[in-house]
Amino acid sequence: MQPLDFIKTAYDVLQKANRLDLAEQLTGLREDLLNLREENLELKEENENLKQQLRIKSKIVYEQGICWIEEDEMTKDKSKTPICPQCWQVEGIVNRLPIQVWGQRPGIQCASCKRIFHLK
Ligand SMILES: [Zn+2]
Repeated sequence: MQPLDFIKTAYDVLQKANRLDLAEQLTGLREDLLNLREENLELKEENENLKQQLRIKSKIVYEQGICWIEEDEMTKDKSKTPICPQCWQVEGIVNRLPIQVWGQRPGIQCASCKRIFHLK
């Protein structure tokens, strides 16, 4: 039996037995359980994000005046992806730069911090 189902069954039994004091405590226990589940999900998500950041951090190199992720998992062919050096070095945030505009414009603009970078 799942913990929430068990609590519900126990709650019903206690109500029928007119033990409202204990039934009330079970209601509190149920809320605690739900809060812990939610907190657990948030921690798992945070942990996954941190693991991903660590994986990415170990693959970042500085070349041609900008930062790059080598073997980027976000690309289909795990190619090298340019990221904004300003956002990465100051904020620790990975903002991929639109590589497809190279050759058409003199620089690439970060969509987040709006700085324009030129390959050296
Ligand atoms: Zn930026």
